[in-house]
Amino acid sequence: MGHPVTHSIRSRLDTERRHFWIGGAWRPPVGGDDTPHTVVADPTGREAVGRVPRGTARDAGEAVAAAREAFPVWAATDAGVRRELLAAVAEGISQREADFAAVISAEMGAPLDNALHTQTRLAAEVFQSYADLLADHAWEERIGASQIVREPVGVVAAITPWNYPLYLIAAKVAAALAAGCAVVLKPSCDAPLNAFLLAEVFAEACPAVGAPGGVFNLVTGPGKVVGEALTSHPEVDAVSFTGSTEAGRSVAMSAAGTVKRVGLELGGKSARVILADEPDGTTVRDLDDAVRLALSDAFYNSGQTCTACTRVLVPDAVYDRAVALAAEEAGRWELGDPALAGEHLGPVATARQYVGVLAHIEQGVAEGARLVAGGKAPPERTPDGLGAGHWILPTVFADVTNDMAVAREEIFGPVVCFLRYRDEEEAARIANDSIYGLAGAVWCTDRLRAERFARRIRAGLVTVNSGRFSVLAPTGGYKQSGVGRELGVHGLDEYTETKTIQW
Ligand code: NAD
Repeated sequence: MGHPVTHSIRSRLDTERRHFWIGGAWRPPVGGDDTPHTVVADPTGREAVGRVPRGTARDAGEAVAAAREAFPVWAATDAGVRRELLAAVAEGISQREADFAAVISAEMGAPLDNALHTQTRLAAEVFQSYADLLADHAWEERIGASQIVREPVGVVAAITPWNYPLYLIAAKVAAALAAGCAVVLKPSCDAPLNAFLLAEVFAEACPAVGAPGGVFNLVTGPGKVVGEALTSHPEVDAVSFTGSTEAGRSVAMSAAGTVKRVGLELGGKSARVILADEPDGTTVRDLDDAVRLALSDAFYNSGQTCTACTRVLVPDAVYDRAVALAAEEAGRWELGDPALAGEHLGPVATARQYVGVLAHIEQGVAEGARLVAGGKAPPERTPDGLGAGHWILPTVFADVTNDMAVAREEIFGPVVCFLRYRDEEEAARIANDSIYGLAGAVWCTDRLRAERFARRIRAGLVTVNSGRFSVLAPTGGYKQSGVGRELGVHGLDEYTETKTIQW
């Protein structure tokens, strides 16, 4: 391999993975020792973090066969045992949370606090939420003379990205297992190591509760190879995909050949609307809080959050003040080593992402948007003072109009655009003028007006003021942000078939 693997986590953890987790055992790829591998790069540019096998369609086939074998056993397993497995996995993640956080931080660059509190604990919470949900879930209902029965959909292929890698895996795997499905997971090649740790958790949890090993299988490899082999596989009943809209389209087309159930959680370009205190008024109480919240939402995880509201819509009357506050606030954010705890920002995760975000920033300037803060980080603003790695300063664009590429395209980096509007009608029109519909936000001191406006935003998740996220509430996209919902009972339903028995 090209890079030495010297990161400190290596001393405690196995980051040199050579086997897949299939059918309850660590198995070498079909190609054996000659199988090429993928190097997991360090976003700080210092060193490689680890490596995983670059699997093939044959490896995907092995994993599907193991899941197919486990499926009827698991589908017939009592909900009590399913609960035990989900709770055991939640507990297993919690017990090893420091390891998970270290690996996630190393492979995708999230600072340690984020990797621990948000990424790892949220994943454990999702597994536990499905264990709890099964305690009194009504699987059947009566409609007239008919009995409506929910049954597991079958073998599920879960394909996931790198930005909140473990949490996004949990949202699929926990719901599918709760429903009685068997899963083949193909995580992102850019942040796959956390998934191998999760397989270690399953390796202990499955035998402990008497679950078949093949309920959870893990293969790695390129999306175009292993991903497509799964999405087109005749023995896969459903695909749950989280990633870019572009890849989501390919997934849907590939799955159409065998008419699979397809869940898609895709990109976004969400709007945050700051409303004036009175309809069409000229003041916004707590504007500085509104701007601070806008920036922390847009910059968290270095802007690599699919639901981030990266278009901030501000009334004309307070626009200049809001932009000045945003420029000042952006300057307060520090870039910092992801291996450290703290509220700093890490690098963006991959070289591809880094190049893409910088290209978007250049395009914004070329189109006439005003760069009031940020851009490519000069070496002296980077943690090692050398500028190696994917460092981008928290970036604010003003004078953005909704026809500019920076307002239309998902950038997926720490870049936020400020747009102005005249009245609420125009704000609603701009907010909804997007191919995406993943999320949105409203800031308003009047709760009723905020709620009315939230209902006008065509998106799956709308936050009012500093509203809190619940792992039991559904998330998902309108328009080209996706199909289907994840989390809670709505997420569970995505993995069931509905049968009517009538007599
Ligand atoms: P990506 O689309 O490049 O890859 C996602 C996964 O799909 C990876 O595992 C990849 O290997 C696989 N893949 C790629 N092409 C494939 C194909 N043709 N067939 C099957 N699998 C394929 O996305 P990414 O860069 O890893 O993640 C960033 C994107 O994910 C952003 O667009 C972001 O908005 C989106 N995202 C959406 C949500 C959501 O809930 N809506 C959550 C997180 C991220």
